[in-house]
Formats: sequence, C-alpha cells, structure tokens
Amino acid sequence: MDFQLTEEQNIFKQTVHDFADTRIAPIVDFWEKGDLSLAPRDLIAEYRELGLLGITLPEQYGGQELPAIYAILAMEELARVTTRASGVVMESSFGPIRAVEKFGTEEQKQRFIPPCARGEKFMSVGMTEPGAGSALTDLTTRAILKGDHYVLNGQKRFISGGGHSDWYMVYVRLSDRKGHKGIGGIVAEKGSPGFTFGKQEEFMGLHGMHSCDLIFEDCLVPKENLIIPEGGFAKLMQAFDVERCGNATQSLGIAWGALEAAKKYSKERMAFGKPICEFQAIQLLLADMAMKVEAARLLIYRAVVNAGNGLPSVFESSVAKCFANEIGKEVTDMALQIFGGYGYSKEYPIERMLRDSRGWPLAGGTVQIQRINIASAMLGRRFDQR
Ligand SMILES: Cc1cc2nc3c(=O)[nH]c(=O)nc-3n(C[C@H](O)[C@H](O)[C@H](O)COP(=O)(O)OP(=O)(O)OC[C@H]3O[C@@H](n4cnc5c(N)ncnc54)[C@H](O)[C@@H]3O)c2cc1C
Repeated sequence: MDFQLTEEQNIFKQTVHDFADTRIAPIVDFWEKGDLSLAPRDLIAEYRELGLLGITLPEQYGGQELPAIYAILAMEELARVTTRASGVVMESSFGPIRAVEKFGTEEQKQRFIPPCARGEKFMSVGMTEPGAGSALTDLTTRAILKGDHYVLNGQKRFISGGGHSDWYMVYVRLSDRKGHKGIGGIVAEKGSPGFTFGKQEEFMGLHGMHSCDLIFEDCLVPKENLIIPEGGFAKLMQAFDVERCGNATQSLGIAWGALEAAKKYSKERMAFGKPICEFQAIQLLLADMAMKVEAARLLIYRAVVNAGNGLPSVFESSVAKCFANEIGKEVTDMALQIFGGYGYSKEYPIERMLRDSRGWPLAGGTVQIQRINIASAMLGRRFDQR
C-alpha cells in the first residue's frame, strides 16, 4: 500500500491546479450569475490540450486509458474552484459513456466513445422522473420498438447537462414487466423528432449548470441506440457505481476549496490585535475540517484505485459518496463560521460553496439511499423498500 502520488501524478495535479486558478477562477462569477452563454465546452480545446478528457476511456476509442485516479485528481483541483468546471472531466471519465464502454456493442463503442473522448460530444444520464426519484424502478418512460426505431414517451427530471449535451442515456421501460425487470438504457440524441427540453432549472446552488426536464413525445430513436436491453438494470446500476466516485469528488473538491480559503483568511483577518488563526477555537475548527477532507479523499482514492480499470464496488463507492457528501456540507459551513459576517456575504466565495455543497448529496442517489446500499452490502442482502 502506497499513499504517495507519483511524480507524474503530482505534475499533472499541479498543472490542473494552475489551470483552475488562471482560467476557471476568473469566470466563476459569470457562471454564478446563472449566465449559460459561456459553457466549459467553450474552453474544451484547453481541456483537451491538458489531457483532461476521456482519461479513463480505452485508447482504442480515442481515450487515454489512464488509471481513474488521474480523473479524480483533475476533478478535485477543478471542483476546488467550481464543480461547473470539474463536471466536464466527470462526464467524459465517469459519466454514462462508461455504460457504453462496459456494455455496448463494438459498433456502439466506435460510434459514441471517440466523440466524447475528444470533447466534441457530451452524454448526460436521464434516470429521474417526476414520479420516480429514489424509487427509480417506478420509472414509466416507455420505449416501444416499431420497425427500425424505438418510440419514446415520458419525461425525465433534473437532468444535469439537459439542453446542452448532445446525447442522453435514457433509462426506459421496454415492456410491461414490472419493476427493474422491464428496464433498459437507450441513447437519445438532441434534435431527434419528438425530443424537447423543459425550462432551465433554478437551483439553490450550482448556478450556471445546465439542468432541465427531457420531454419525449413519440420521439423516434434508432434501434441501434439501445445500449442495455430489457433486464439489464443491474448493469446500468453497476456502471453508475463509477459515477458515484465522480459525484463524491465534487463534494470533496468543494470542501477542500472551502478549507483552503478559510486557512488563508484565518491568517489575514485580525481580531483583538492578532490574526484569528492564533485563537484555539479557530485552530480546532480548521483541524476538524482537515480531518474530514482527508478522510473523504482517502475513501474516494480507495474506491477508484481498487476498481483498477473496472467498476468500483457498491460498498466502497457508496461509503465514499455518502461520507464526502456529508462532510461537503459540514466543512463549507465551518468555513463560513471562520469568515464571520463576510462568509455570509456574496462578496466572498464561501456562501456559494455552502449552497453548491448541498446539491451533490441529492444528485446521483441521496445520502439515505447510499446508506441503504452500504447496509445491504455489509449484511449481504437487499432489503425491499416497498
Ligand atoms: C443537482 C442535481 C443534479 C441531478 N442530476 C441528475 C441527472 O443528471 N440525472 C438524473 O437522472 N437525475 C438527476 N438528479 C435527480 C436526483 O438523482 C434525484 O433528485 C434523487 O435521486 C432523489 O430523488 P427525488 O428528488 O425524487 O427524491 P425522493 O426519491 O422523493 O426522496 C425524498 C426524500 O426521501 C428519502 N427517501 C426516499 N426513499 C427512501 C428510502 N427507501 N429510505 C430512506 N429514505 C428514503 C430521500 O433520500 C429524500 O431525502 C439531480 C438532482 C440534483 C439535485
């Protein structure tokens, strides 16, 4: 067991660190105001040049086929500034494209993976519905095969990248079989007849992130786009284990950014004639924040390193996600306390970090659902929630 990053990994991390500070930090406010006109896609050439795209995707399909830890290191550095920027790395290394890579046909891999690895196309995941969130197997979006096309009808909610991404891995019901048995995954393309988007979501945080409903009204999708046939829900969930590590890293990055900001502020802010870092109460807060950040980091690293080039275990990825999501909220709140009244002001980044940190424990399976996953893995059985 070796807890040191290699020299190459340290150089890569530093390069992303500098990119985040020089290129991303100046546009955070722009995104924060909810302006969607400049997307990370507009910086995509720089992402590509720095090797931030398709990090985990196979070389034969244009990816870099590097260990997943590289994608985690990059995400951590970018999420430290804003998860809007790390989302690009997440999509192309931990997103639904991994389901295509793991379970698609050779033809599908050749068609979908290279454009995602080059950053020419983006793929989002459409699972959640107005009537099916945590209870995902209640989903009703229907896909019926008619000739050479599936006809899709239904609605997906809160889809990150909605309206912006080119492709959507849509979880659909392919037959009347109840629960998970009738579910599969199909890629719907933006611009397909019968495929429209709802209004941009107005979240408490994560401003500037595209998110909306996907609306399918007799939408025609070529039958060659069916990635996971009926009965493959377990495969969809297995591919989602990897997405969980990406989500966890969004929380870790925010918490780490808040810790770094609080550390710096505590050395500069004077009270009673000395920097506030000299008060033990502030030192204890900083120490507690550091313990939480370090523990989350190690849990995420363990999940991805143990996965190798495959998919992580449910237990390790759920523990990492749940813990990172929880400490993301706690650490940003503690940072706000260190900033005093200024932490509550929009002039400083902490209130944004606190609001952003609240989104990730809801996305990608809530912290309650992660705890159910963890208990099930520990006890070696699934518990019917119905
Ligand atoms: C920022 C953000 C990004 C998102 N991105 C996407 C995306 O890209 N694609 C996508 O498909 N979806 C996305 N979602 C949707 C997200 O996955 C769902 O919101 C989430 O799964 C919860 O579903 P729900 O909101 O319907 O809550 P519900 O399922 O209605 O849950 C409500 C509450 O009840 C709890 N609960 C439910 N069942 C149980 C149980 N059995 N035991 C204990 N507690 C339970 C939940 O934990 C929650 O606290 C996103 C959401 C957010 C906020």
